[in-house]
Amino acid sequence: MKNNKSISLIICFLLVFTLIGCSGKNIEESSKTQNTQSEISGVFEGKSFGHNGEILLSLELDSGYIKEITLLEHKESEGISDLAIERIPQEIINEQSIKVDNVSGATITSRGIINAVTDALKNANVVIEKYKLEKVAETIQVTNKELDTDVVVIGGGGAGLAAAVSAHQNGAKVVLIEKMPRLGGNTILSGGAYNAVDPSRQEKQGIEDSIEKHFNQTYEGGDKKGNPELIQTLVEGAYPAIEWLESLNMKFDDKVFTVLGGLWPRAHKPSSAVGTGFINTYKNYIDNNDNIDIIFDTEVTEITEIEGKVNGVIAQSRDTNYKINASKGVIIATGGFANNSQLRDKYNTQWPSLTKLKSTNHPGATGDGLILAEDVGANLINLEDIQLLPMGDPATGSLSGNVEQGVENRIFINNDGNRFVDEGERRDVMTKALMEQEDSSMWVIVDTHSYPTEDTRNNFNESIEELMAQGRAFKGETIEELAEQIKVNPKNLKKSIEEFNAAVENKAEDPFGRTLFENKLDKGPFYAGKRVPTVHHTMGGIEINSKAEVIGKDGKIIKNLYAAGEVTGGIHGSNRLGGNALADITVFGKIAGKNASSNN
Ligand code: ADP
Repeated sequence: MKNNKSISLIICFLLVFTLIGCSGKNIEESSKTQNTQSEISGVFEGKSFGHNGEILLSLELDSGYIKEITLLEHKESEGISDLAIERIPQEIINEQSIKVDNVSGATITSRGIINAVTDALKNANVVIEKYKLEKVAETIQVTNKELDTDVVVIGGGGAGLAAAVSAHQNGAKVVLIEKMPRLGGNTILSGGAYNAVDPSRQEKQGIEDSIEKHFNQTYEGGDKKGNPELIQTLVEGAYPAIEWLESLNMKFDDKVFTVLGGLWPRAHKPSSAVGTGFINTYKNYIDNNDNIDIIFDTEVTEITEIEGKVNGVIAQSRDTNYKINASKGVIIATGGFANNSQLRDKYNTQWPSLTKLKSTNHPGATGDGLILAEDVGANLINLEDIQLLPMGDPATGSLSGNVEQGVENRIFINNDGNRFVDEGERRDVMTKALMEQEDSSMWVIVDTHSYPTEDTRNNFNESIEELMAQGRAFKGETIEELAEQIKVNPKNLKKSIEEFNAAVENKAEDPFGRTLFENKLDKGPFYAGKRVPTVHHTMGGIEINSKAEVIGKDGKIIKNLYAAGEVTGGIHGSNRLGGNALADITVFGKIAGKNASSNN
C-alpha cells in the first residue's frame, strides 16, 4: 500500500489543440471545443473513496480543458490498483470526459478516481454534463499474428507464473497469455498464507508437525475425496517450493501461524504485503530474462492439436488474432470459476443457492480453462465441490478488511452476542454454521493481543485504525462498550468471552470443542469486524496426474497438455484447507513448467 503517493500525468496540451484544430468535427471533438471555450482555469482538489480509503487528487483546468490530474493521497493496494491509477487519469485527459471504462480487476479504485475527478470538477464550478460525453466508438483494425515458442502458459495467476518461470529455468522459450491487464489472479488478493511443514521455523516455535500429519489433515479435511498421489506430491513439494521461491529472492516471515480453516500452525506469511511477494518475485524474474514474454489483455479461446498432440493456442485481444505454436506444450493455469455464477449454479449440489453470494475472487475467475480443456477431451472431476468462506466483506465479498490475525486469538459471535461454532473448524463447517445465524452474518472479536497498537496491520496490509475510519471495524475499551458499538447483547458477549477465556486457561472444555488457542481475550481495547459467507475456491476441475499431465476422458494422458492450480481437480477433495492453495499452485505450477519444457 502506498501513502501520499503522487503521480503526475501531463498531456501535451499543444498537440491536442493542434489535433482538434485540424480534424473534422465529431461529438467527441465538439465536446473538447465546448470545454475549452469555458473560461475556468486553475487547480482544484477532489476526493472520494477507493477500495481502501480516501483518494485525494488535484485537477488542473486550462480554460475548461483538463490538463493535468495528480493523485495526492491514496491507500489503494499495490499490484491491484496500479493500472487504474496509471490509466484512468490519462484516459480522462485523453477523452476530456469522466465517462471512461473502469480497469478490470480494479473497478472500485477506478470508480474512486472518476468520482474524485467529478468532485474536483464540481469544486471548479464547471458544467459537469460537458465532461460526460460518451467515447466515440473507434474502428479497430484487427491484425493476425503467428508466434512460435516452446511452451505456452494460459493465465498469469500464481500457478501460471510458477509454471512460466519453471519452464524457462528448465530451458524453454515461454509465452504467457493473460486475459486481464495485470498479473496476479487470486494470489495478489489473498492474505498470502502458504502451508508447508518447515523443520526450521516450526521447531523454533515448538510446533510438532510432519509430512504425514499435513497429508492426513489434507486428505481427511477433504473427506478423503482427494487423490492421495496428488496430495503426497503437494505436501512433499510444499517446503522445497518455498526454498525455490527464496532462491528467486522472495522473503517469508520467521513466524508460522494457523490460517482460517488451516487446522495447524504451518502457514507461512510472505514478508511483503498480501500476495505481492509472490507476484513481484515472478515478475522480477520475467523482467530480467529473455525468452519469457507476457501478452496481456488477451484471451485464449482454443487449444490446438495435431495428430493427437497439443501444439498451441488461439487467442484474441482487442486488435490481434493470435495463433501461437508451442513445440513442447501448453499449460492451463486459468484458475477456478468462483466468479461465474452460472457455472456455480450449474455445479452446486451442496449449498443453498449461491446465485446471490459475492466472491473473494478476481473478475477473471470464470472457469474458461474447463471449457478449453474439455474441448480437447480432458476429464473434469468434482465440480460440485465449491468452497465458501465465512469471512467475506459484507459490501464486496472480498477477504480484505478481515480483523483476524490468526485463528487462535479470535472468536466469532452472532448478532445476539453468542458464539455458535468451533472457530478452528473446517471452512465448510464454519460457513454452514454461519448460514444458520440471523442475516447469515457474524462479528469477529479480537483484542490487544491481535492489535498491540492501532497501526498494526492485518494480513491485507490494513491497520485497525484505517478499518475503523472506513466503518469496517469497531472498538470498545471494554466488552460492554464494544457490545454497544456493534449493537449486540452485552451480557451474551461477556458470557461468550468468559467461556472462551476459561477454555484457554483449560479450566473448562470449550463448549464448541475448540482446541486451537493462544491468548485469552482479556486485554482491551476490544475490536470487532463484520463478516458474511462468500464464494472462495472451486476444488473440482481438470483431472491431472502427479506430473501435472492432463488426463483425458478415456483415462489416457493428453500429450503435451498440462494443468496447474485452481483449474485442476482432485487435490483438495470436498474441502480445501486454508493455506493449501498457494502451496498447491506453486508446487504444481513448478512441476507443470518443468515437465512441459522437457518434451520434444
Ligand atoms: P491460480 O491460483 O490457479 O493461479 P488464478 O485465478 O489466481 O488461478 O489465476 C488465473 C489467471 O488466468 C487469472 O489471471 C485470469 O485472468 C487468467 N485467465 C483466465 N482465463 C483466461 C483465458 N481464457 N485466457 C487468458 N488468461 C486467462
